[in-house]
Amino acid sequence: MQSSVTLDGLTFVPYLTSEEIAAQVKRVASEIREDLKDGSPIFLCVLTGAFMFGADLVREVGINDAPITFVRYSSYSGLSSTGEVKQLMGLKEDISGRDVVIIEDIVDTGLTASMMVEDLKKRNPSSIRFATLLYKPESSKTGFKPDYVAFSIPPKFIIGYGLDLDGKGRNLKDIYVIRDQKN
Ligand code: IMP
Ligand code: MG
Repeated sequence: MQSSVTLDGLTFVPYLTSEEIAAQVKRVASEIREDLKDGSPIFLCVLTGAFMFGADLVREVGINDAPITFVRYSSYSGLSSTGEVKQLMGLKEDISGRDVVIIEDIVDTGLTASMMVEDLKKRNPSSIRFATLLYKPESSKTGFKPDYVAFSIPPKFIIGYGLDLDGKGRNLKDIYVIRDQKN
């Protein structure tokens, strides 16, 4: 792990190591496997931030006949939510009668999550579950509660393992938190 990462003039310091991440991904995967072993799951990975978590999670869950597909939403600019959620790429697959597992990188205000769940409910899935790598409960503006959480964290801006600052830092294997963020 690097002792710090600087992007766009902001300094980030170590927060979660790849080993800590892997251990929690494994735990969440076993919860999902247990809940869905008799179901008909389809994994819906939310781009772009969840691509790394999604890749690790579906391998750990290990349900070979479950389809994996992608949707894309965007709400962030710089360090904060714009309050407006944009759907950039929708779902083409038929999810009726299926047990949908949404895979997200982070639930912050909860706006993206609640909008996504409402949108998917209209397509008659048999159930919808929401798995997120990170959850900032103190930032919630919606009361949305994910079903599976790898880490609950304070409302600080983080990068790495798929999460970005304006498109940068997604490649990092570990997660870093911004140093001295003034809220
Ligand atoms: P929400 O709609 O406010 O819950 O925001 C969800 C989206 O905002 C996530 O899917 C991320 O793309 C982005 N986001 C929220 N917090 C962070 C962060 O700390 N670092 C990077 N992206 C974040
Ligand atoms: Mg996202």
